[in-house]
Amino acid sequence: MDTTTGANGCENYPKLKVAIVGGGLVGTLSASFFAKRGHEVHLYELRPDIRHLEHVPGRSINLALSIRGRAALKEVGIEEQVVQRHGIPMFARMIHNLDGTTKPIPYGKKDQCIYSVGRRFLNEALLTAAEKYSNVHCHFNEKLVSANLNQGKMTFERQPNKEVHNVEAQLVVGADGAFSSVRRQMMKQPLFDFSQTYIPHGYLELCIPPLSDGSHAMPKNYLHIWPRGRFMMIALPNQDGSWTVTLFMPFEEFGKLSTPEKLLDFFQQYYPDALPLIGKEKLVSDYFAYKPSPLVSVKCGPYNIGDTAIIIGDAAHAMVPFYGQGMNAGFEDCRLLDAVLLKHNFDLGPALIEFSKTRRPDAEAICNLAMYNYVEMRDLVNRKTFLIRKHFDNLLHTLMPDLWIPLYTSVTFSHMPYAQCIKNKEWQDKMVDRFLSTMAAVVVAMIAYFVYSFAF
Ligand SMILES: Cc1cc2nc3c(=O)[nH]c(=O)nc-3n(C[C@H](O)[C@H](O)[C@H](O)COP(=O)(O)OP(=O)(O)OC[C@H]3O[C@@H](n4cnc5c(N)ncnc54)[C@H](O)[C@@H]3O)c2cc1C
Repeated sequence: MDTTTGANGCENYPKLKVAIVGGGLVGTLSASFFAKRGHEVHLYELRPDIRHLEHVPGRSINLALSIRGRAALKEVGIEEQVVQRHGIPMFARMIHNLDGTTKPIPYGKKDQCIYSVGRRFLNEALLTAAEKYSNVHCHFNEKLVSANLNQGKMTFERQPNKEVHNVEAQLVVGADGAFSSVRRQMMKQPLFDFSQTYIPHGYLELCIPPLSDGSHAMPKNYLHIWPRGRFMMIALPNQDGSWTVTLFMPFEEFGKLSTPEKLLDFFQQYYPDALPLIGKEKLVSDYFAYKPSPLVSVKCGPYNIGDTAIIIGDAAHAMVPFYGQGMNAGFEDCRLLDAVLLKHNFDLGPALIEFSKTRRPDAEAICNLAMYNYVEMRDLVNRKTFLIRKHFDNLLHTLMPDLWIPLYTSVTFSHMPYAQCIKNKEWQDKMVDRFLSTMAAVVVAMIAYFVYSFAF
């Protein structure tokens, strides 16, 4: 069998033919990981090569990149290019109140930040990085239409003429997103679990243009949030001085804003400070140009079919975007899968089972956390109890950095497995409850003591 000697010269593992379905963020990163290990990689992407497109249709123009994503990018050598040269650091949420006042809430310690990066830039950088390996072959305009995953056989339809052809690989990696065709094939297998949940909210992207001198119209190093209870709006900075503004709202509310007048009244009432920044004309034209998109959360498993197929990224665990972790978790999948494969010397059977078993609880945990943050961002973030708890957590984290790690910090600024982040938070909540009960008991005892002293 054809074998490869690894970077440190001591690994000796089989050289595989790997077919990656989906050339989005996760698929392209995964291509570099497999290529780096010397495998023959074929990347199949439904769309044309986005590097040659004027306009790339699709969702979310920019994304928040945090430590898990950065660690994976670093392993394929493009972290610096993405973060230092293109990312815009965001050190805090900037809360916009109804009266126009603003209040920053830091994400963590002073130097801790997440980065706003352009989806297109990132996808293009990942494609170019993958193609630098001579063992990576990109096939664009190729749509997976069916597969026999047990045998590593796939059928693709070449776009736009729908010419069909067959492909075989020793390992099929499904990185084809939330509505994955690879996963659909897996669902035909017995004992495959699947659930999906649409939330009542959809999202629509708007834009705050740069000022006339090309600078940002709001303080740049923040993720701006307009929490309004049942709905909210956020804005992330872009390199060109503009902001991508995302309006999250129940579909029925979107439906009510059916005329320019209703839309402008709504913005005047709920987002009065954002309205002049977007501009009335631009708001109306951008709002009515697109329909709001739905948001789905997907849980499924196992992620593998024997020793021939695996799903990663949104194909395995799509989540609502409120923790800014979908891409980060997908990038972490690539890094962890690579580590497990190396550990098993690319013996696919045990490696894929181990990846699926260990990754699934963590992926489901971050899907749950993202759903929880859906409430936190639009509502809780404005409550006094939330802010008091945040200060309390930060204080304890400063005093005991290794023992008391706030939930957001563990998810965004650490590599703690996501399920462990939840367990950690549950333990902290128990400690806080105990502390408050003890304090309450002490106060009651003191009151009783004083009443008793004065009465007798
Ligand atoms: C509004 C919004 C904001 C978000 N913000 C953040 C954020 O701030 N931070 C973060 O970490 N995550 C964020 N996410 C999540 C992030 O976008 C996803 O987790 C990420 O894009 C997943 O990457 P992926 O490669 O798995 O899937 P995708 O990006 O969906 O890529 C899948 C690829 O597969 C291709 N494909 C699909 N079907 C086929 C087929 N049959 N044959 C061949 N190719 C196919 C598609 O064309 C696509 O290129 C956000 C999501 C949304 C909706």
